[in-house]
Order: sequence, then structure tokens, then C-alpha cells
Amino acid sequence: MSAPPAAVAPPVVSPPRAASAPLLEVEGLTKHFPIRRGLFARVSGWVRAVDGVSFSIRPGETLALVGESGSGKTTTGRCILRLLEPTSGSVRFDGTDLLGLAPREMRRMRRQIQVVFQDPYGSLNPRMRVGTIVREPLDIHRIGKNRAERDAMVARLLERVGLDPGMVRRYPHEFSGGQRQRIGVARALALRPRLIVADEPVSALDVSVQAQVINLLIDLQQELGIAYLFIAHDLALVERIADRVAVMYLGKLVELAPVEEIFKNPLHPYTKALLQAIPVPDPTRARERTVIRGEIPSPAAPPPGCRFHTRCPVVVETCRRVEPPLVEVAPGHWAACHLVPGPAGDAAPSSRRGAASG
Ligand code: SF4
Repeated sequence: MSAPPAAVAPPVVSPPRAASAPLLEVEGLTKHFPIRRGLFARVSGWVRAVDGVSFSIRPGETLALVGESGSGKTTTGRCILRLLEPTSGSVRFDGTDLLGLAPREMRRMRRQIQVVFQDPYGSLNPRMRVGTIVREPLDIHRIGKNRAERDAMVARLLERVGLDPGMVRRYPHEFSGGQRQRIGVARALALRPRLIVADEPVSALDVSVQAQVINLLIDLQQELGIAYLFIAHDLALVERIADRVAVMYLGKLVELAPVEEIFKNPLHPYTKALLQAIPVPDPTRARERTVIRGEIPSPAAPPPGCRFHTRCPVVVETCRRVEPPLVEVAPGHWAACHLVPGPAGDAAPSSRRGAASG
């Protein structure tokens, strides 16, 4: 009798690299969208959605990318997946330059890099049965010997994400929001990826269901060693799942640090304001609050100097003229603010500027 099929596809074998080597390295990533006007659709300007973002993710690590809507987080995720072509910069996955891959090679690489989208309602084809949705990546990549073996894999995947495998013939509309997101996770897991870009995966769900899906993602990470780029607009959501947090504002990283450090010792005024916006569960304990004035400016016309200066509660004159670089102010803790002292308590030395790595 042949061995039972694996719950998920066998892992893709990659050449060995140093254990500490990052799985994903993003350097100077930029995505500018042209603004076209007039009869001839001439380019009249550029939307600087992502403007020189650098970070890395280690195998099995979760990096949360956090910021308001319009900060460029989703565009960053899509550029990494090459669902959008970056304007410049580099994205290396396990040492391979993703931006240099031909479309066919990139499709093969997608076995290792999967995505879970925000909207569990819109990301599943309403005309496909759930079994077909989860089996589709296995069919495309010809995983398993035959249809029966792939169906067995689908059943195990559904079971693994907490769904009844007997539901394979149902359609997405017959499931709740949380169940649909579990279907999205099962589909993403089918090819046994090493990195999942989770783009606001729980934002559309009720609070109680959010916790369940986050717990599922944490369990799967511990079991399968998957790394996550976890995109969220709410810092409170990432506290449980993230190892490190990168805060993004208007196309730039403004702070990056281990999760405990971000919560205990936030340095950038924008990070502080995001943290202070988290509701306190105890109504008798008021939290000191800094209200960020106004809306995030348009990425088509970012403010000069520090991009946050139009809303910053502690802005000084230099901020309006000089852009602060992202500097490692303490081991593993990076911030881009003129008022944050460098490691020696002085202005940021240029040798510590650059890619914010783990
Ligand atoms: Fe505020 Fe200036 Fe720091 Fe920007 S550089 S966050 S404007 S203090």
C-alpha cells in the first residue's frame, strides 16, 4: 500500500544558506505611479507610494508592517510579490533576486511566497467550490500524483485550518467571514510556502474572530516555520504575532524595532501616536493621548523635509527642510527623527544609516 499523501505539498528544496541569513531582503524599494492627464494621457506627476524602503525577514520570523491607510504598506507587499512591478530597488528571497526573474521563474518562486488578502469576501471566487479553490494551486503546480491525491491534501489542509473537510463542495458564500479567511489560509498553505505576505488578514473580521485567525497563523508558524510579512493598520493587532514591527508613514519606514521595544520604548512621534490611539480596556485608566492632526498628506505631493512634519506635535524648524535618515539608535532599533538621539546621544552618524535588518 502506498504511503498516505502529505497534508501539504513537500517543501521546495533550496540551496543551503547560513542559518542566520535573511529569507527576504528588501533594499531601497520604490514604487511611483504616474499621474496621467489630458487627451494624450501625458504624465503630469508621480504618486510616491513607496519611497526607498529597506528591511529583512529571517526564516520563521514575523515582521509586522504597520501604518495608516495610504502609508504604502500594501503597495510594498504587492511589489515583493511582484503583483506590482517596483520602480527601483531590490527584493531578494533566499538569495535570489526576485525582480530579475522571468515571469515563468517568478511563477515557480510563488510556490515559496504566498499571499493572504484582506478581504475574505472578495478574494475567493464565488463561483468555485471551496475544494476547487484550495486545490487550484496544487493543480497549477502539479503537486500530487493525481486528482484523488490532491483531494486528500485539500481535506487535510481544511482540517488543519479548523474547517470540516466535508465542506469541500460548498461555495464561499455559505461560510462566515472567519471561515472564509481560514479557506484563504488553507489555499496559501497548499504549496507549503516559506513566506506568507498577509495583507491585513484580519481587518475585515469581528474582534473575536480576529483572535482566532491570529492564533491559527501563530500555530501554523510554529509547526511549519513559515515567515510572515504581516501588514496591518492597527498596532494593537500585531502585538501577539509580530517579532519585529516596522512603522511606515507616507511611503517611508519611520521606525523599526523588536515588538517589545516598540511597545515599551517607542521613539518616533508617529509610532507614539499610533500606540496612544489603542483603546485602553480599563475605562478608569485614562491614557495620555497625542492626537495626530489632520489627514495623511497625498503621496503625490509629500511634504519636504520630514514627511511627518505637517502633523508632528513636536516639530522643529529643521524638520521642515531636512529629511531625517533612518538610523540604528540602539541595537536593532531604527528610527527616522531629528529629535531621536543617536547611539552616542548625538546626531545620527552616517555609518549607521541604511537598511534596517534583523
Ligand atoms: Fe517630528 Fe521632526 Fe521628528 Fe519628523 S523629524 S517626527 S517632524 S520631530
